[in-house]
Amino acid sequence: METYKYAAVNEAKIYKSLVDGKGKKAVNRILMGTYVKIVSQKGDWFEVETVGTDGWMHKDDLAETMGLKIFFIDIGQGDGVLIEAGKMKILIDAGPDASLYNYLTKWQYTYLLKKKEKVHIDHVFITHFDIDHYKGVIKLLEDERFTFGTIYHPGILKFAETGNKYGTGLGDTVDNGGEKYLTTIFDELVAAEGKSSFNRDVTAFVKALTAASKKKRVKNTVRLAAGKKPMDQTVDGKRFSIEETVNGKDALIYLSDEGKTINGHSLVLRITFGTRTFLFGGDLNTRSEEYLMKKYGTQNPFEVDVAKSCHHGSADFTEKFLAMVNPYATVISSGDNEGHAHPRADALGSAGKYSKSIRPLVFSTELARSVNPKTKKIIYGLINIRCNGNDIHISQMKEIKKEDDLWDSYRVK
Ligand SMILES: [Zn+2]
Repeated sequence: METYKYAAVNEAKIYKSLVDGKGKKAVNRILMGTYVKIVSQKGDWFEVETVGTDGWMHKDDLAETMGLKIFFIDIGQGDGVLIEAGKMKILIDAGPDASLYNYLTKWQYTYLLKKKEKVHIDHVFITHFDIDHYKGVIKLLEDERFTFGTIYHPGILKFAETGNKYGTGLGDTVDNGGEKYLTTIFDELVAAEGKSSFNRDVTAFVKALTAASKKKRVKNTVRLAAGKKPMDQTVDGKRFSIEETVNGKDALIYLSDEGKTINGHSLVLRITFGTRTFLFGGDLNTRSEEYLMKKYGTQNPFEVDVAKSCHHGSADFTEKFLAMVNPYATVISSGDNEGHAHPRADALGSAGKYSKSIRPLVFSTELARSVNPKTKKIIYGLINIRCNGNDIHISQMKEIKKEDDLWDSYRVK
């Protein structure tokens, strides 16, 4: 039987050979949680096969459990995050195009696809229905090699500009106590087509979802509302939970215009693993942050160790909310050559200023991207987070790599 273990430390060294019971010549370094296949054993040393060059690892650098991995995939302007927790695969958004699909099929899960195994994504969270967050899900739904558990969403869809029976592009609204509320809210997305005249991209999404669901490749869709906890379980002996901290109710407040309303009702997900926490706030903006802070008053469910920067580092944020999140590290997911100039200078500066660390960490998928000096081809950026329930390490690949010097890594503290 094949035996597998995982790197217990970050940048665990792999040596070319064993000489007098010691590793000789480091030929590779792997991140905490990276999976290794055990080939043979000599005393305290294991011969392993892993990502990159194979070799020998010391027993102290090996663990029986993987822990939590979070991959911020460089999908250009948008969000695309893959999470692996124990045996679970989770997506939070999937970018605007085929970038995330290509990452999954040509890199991350080639080991499954080569064996003709299906790739099962246990949970997909679509934070909101802007194309830079959900359009990439269509390509995954259309590929028979993928199956899905639950697809979570905030319930607000977009309608066509013409032939739309509603008062706004997001549906009907009512006035109540001087505030305007959106009342066209969807719980079930499968077979929602035909009932309404969605815009072109939402129509394509609902169609792909309905087709995949008919083939039993999707279990169900669920609208997440405030306080819902889609997951609270034990992974590798530690608590792993995801909760929707803030948004969603029967009528959703309308925030000045359609764009601000759809962004402002992004799912806000708080992930806990062991003693560490992570916040994914979709595309929250000033209006929604103010609304949430008012709603929560003196409570603060937003404070975490690591936060995804809301809305790709846009300038539409409040300092007060950032001060509540108060993370050690921030990750920004944005593209190059887009019209928004994300991330904005004030968003970058504030991410540092409102950190609780004396050396705040700010990562960007865009900065992690590089160009191969010889071929001039783009090397897409990837921000890697690894957590064993106590320690968090965030790493990106060096632009010029040597086999035992690959990573630019930071311990979150
Ligand atoms: Zn966005």
